[in-house]
Amino acid sequence: MQVETVRQGRCDCGGLSFTVRGEPVHTHACTCTECQRSTGSVMSHSAWFPEAAVAIEGDYTLHHHRGSEHPDRYRCFCPTCGTGRFFKSGAAFPGTIGFAVGSFADPDFPPPRYVLYWGNRPNWLGQPESVPVRAEAEE
Ligand SMILES: [Zn+2]
Ligand SMILES: [Zn+2]
Repeated sequence: MQVETVRQGRCDCGGLSFTVRGEPVHTHACTCTECQRSTGSVMSHSAWFPEAAVAIEGDYTLHHHRGSEHPDRYRCFCPTCGTGRFFKSGAAFPGTIGFAVGSFADPDFPPPRYVLYWGNRPNWLGQPESVPVRAEAEE
């Protein structure tokens, strides 16, 4: 019998934490402008797990993308330190909760399947050898 993988992540201050069971249903990285601004980094790396495989502990602030235009899309983060990001992506990944992979600080976390919006990357960033890149969202 295979033992189910359990991973734990948290925000920087530890007030918000989460446990995910099994492997993510999807994972990708993205260098689009929205991801750069929302993470404060050169790209996001996100992973989506089924809602039933996720347990969240602690308080969080909920922020809607672009006002109420997409009520099924929002992201949450620790109200104290502003990190520990998790999110709902609406119709893109129904029935799942997405996480910023950095919150797990796990070098063995599954790699992104691809990097989106590669054309928007910082000019100094070289193409990874192990992960394909896409110019826009889909090809
Ligand atoms: Zn925190
Ligand atoms: Zn993005």
